[in-house]
Amino acid sequence: MAHQKLVDNWGRPINYLRLAITDRCNLRCFYCMPEEGIKYLPKQALLTYEEMERLVSIFCQLGIEKIRITGGEPFVRKDLVPFLYRLAETEGLQTINITTNGLLTAQYLDDLKQIGVKSVNLSLDTLDQDRFKQITRRDEFEKVYETLIKLVDHGFDTKINMVVMPGKNIEDILPMAALSLKMPVSVRFIEEMPFNGSTTDHYDLPWSSSRIIKEIEKEFPLQKITDPKHATASHYKIPGSLGNVGVIAAYTRTFCGSCNRVRLTAQGELRTCLYANHGLDLKTLLRADQSDQEISQAIINAINNRHKDGFEAEKSRNFSDNWESMSTIGG
Ligand code: SAM
Ligand code: SF4
Repeated sequence: MAHQKLVDNWGRPINYLRLAITDRCNLRCFYCMPEEGIKYLPKQALLTYEEMERLVSIFCQLGIEKIRITGGEPFVRKDLVPFLYRLAETEGLQTINITTNGLLTAQYLDDLKQIGVKSVNLSLDTLDQDRFKQITRRDEFEKVYETLIKLVDHGFDTKINMVVMPGKNIEDILPMAALSLKMPVSVRFIEEMPFNGSTTDHYDLPWSSSRIIKEIEKEFPLQKITDPKHATASHYKIPGSLGNVGVIAAYTRTFCGSCNRVRLTAQGELRTCLYANHGLDLKTLLRADQSDQEISQAIINAINNRHKDGFEAEKSRNFSDNWESMSTIGG
């Protein structure tokens, strides 16, 4: 099957796969995991690199062109870089991007360049060392900030992901927006979602993307700029800035109508929406010796049964379950 175009049952073309390499992480971000961490999957429950390579090759045959490597923290998995070199050879794959917390990343930047990675998303929720420690429960701000400087120096298209959390980092919105004045980075403010690995039966959204924009406009004029096709962020520029700012309506979900992405979790489940709590178990199909064609057909069927949007997907959740940790889904 040569580069068949994947289109879901709502007519949305699918060409973007988010690949969670691991559920393990070296931070304990408040909004993603409980303090004691999550119960990690046993090693044999994670896809092997060989299994991921096979699945990526099948996905690319079906029309996936872009992959984002995520996790957990991708760089905590041993031998990630050799895997990325191999992945870059996949026929049909045009773009590999990475989302990372920046703790182990800096030593691999030359490799990432060589592999052809152009864009790196760095998670950084504050520019204050103490608040960094409160939010991530680790005292590692300096290392992450150094990674940010190195990413920019190496010429990566660098995006900062800041999850906006009332009571935790509202005071960081303006300094973070100001970073785009002097650095060629895209600072993206993300609405907090309930995926924190514990029971959040009830979840109120305190800071929507429109409220975040209003907050930035208290200090800086913002010009709307054109968003890349299928972008989840809505982008603005502070006049005269080197970079830009964006808001991601991750909870209010205004972008579902043009969603072009699917996710593969670290345990090999295909999730066709972030808000759905179950998906197609591709690992079992792989380990049951199904052929590439059978696996392709199962993927096509799953994409033909996609929820219309994140609200519909959320209704399908089993609310007796905890909200998962984002580190098992990949964000
Ligand atoms: N460990 C890497 C990192 O933090 O960049 C990659 C995995 S992390 C799960 C991917 C993205 O999801 C990060 O940008 C993180 O900020 C975001 N994220 C995690 N939990 C979230 C939540 N509850 N609401 C909104 N974004 C979240
Ligand atoms: Fe780890 Fe990323 Fe989750 Fe933070 S957001 S705990 S860095 S996986």
